[in-house]
Amino acid sequence: MYAVISDIHGNLEALEAVLADVPDGIAEIYCLGDVIGYGASPNECCELVRSYGMPVISGNHDLAVTDLSTDLAWFNPVAAAAIQWTRDQLNGENADFLRTRPRTLHEEGTLFVHGSVRDPDEYIINGAVARENLAVLEAEYPDVRVCFFGHTHVKTVAPSPNGPSPGSHDVLDLTGGPYLVNPGSVGQPRDGDTFASYVLAEDAQEGPRVAYRFVEYDVEKAQDKIRAAGLPGMLADRLAYGR
Ligand code: ZN
Repeated sequence: MYAVISDIHGNLEALEAVLADVPDGIAEIYCLGDVIGYGASPNECCELVRSYGMPVISGNHDLAVTDLSTDLAWFNPVAAAAIQWTRDQLNGENADFLRTRPRTLHEEGTLFVHGSVRDPDEYIINGAVARENLAVLEAEYPDVRVCFFGHTHVKTVAPSPNGPSPGSHDVLDLTGGPYLVNPGSVGQPRDGDTFASYVLAEDAQEGPRVAYRFVEYDVEKAQDKIRAAGLPGMLADRLAYGR
C-alpha cells in the first residue's frame, strides 16, 4: 500500500496532520507537487517532505518560486505576491531540491503528474478535459491503470467508478480503467472542504483500490501564521471556506 498527497502549499499544520494520519507500514508517500507557495512554512514543509524521502514531482508553484526566470505576470496578483514572498524565504538547498524534481513519474501501472497527462500546467477541471487526457493516457501509457494528478485542489475520480450518482469516497475499486484520480489538496482545498485530504492506494490483481482520507488540522494556526508573515490576508481567509 502507498499514499499519494498533493498541493501542500507551505501549510505545515495540514502536512503534519496528514503525515500523522498515514498508517504504519505504508511503503511510499508520493507527492504530486506544489510543496510551497501560499502558505507560511515553505522551508519546514520542504524539509519534512525530504526527510520522508518522498518521490516528488515539481508543480507550477515549485518552479515559479525556484526558477527566477519565471514570468509572474502569468499568475494572479495574490499568487504572484505569495511566490515573491516564498522566494525570499526559501533556502538554497530546498530551492535546489524543488527545482530538480521530475515533472512526471511513471511506475509500473501507475503515472503521477501535477496537472494533466499531456501538460503539467493543465487543469483537469471538467469531464471533457478528463476524457481527452484519458485518451492520451491510453495511447501513450498503455500499461497505466491509474494516473494520479493534482493542481486543481479538487478531489476527483474520472470516470466515476460508482456510476452516475455521486457516491461517497470510501474504498474505490478501480478495476479496469484507466482512471484519473486527484487526492485533493493537503494545504489549500478548493472544493468547499476545509480539511486536508489524500489517498491510500493498493495494487490488487483486478485493479487498484483507492481510499480517500480526510484529515482535520489546526486551520486557525495556519491562518495566523499567514497573516503574521504579511502574506495576502485572502490566503488565510480562504482556508476557512475551502475555496
Ligand atoms: Zn497547487
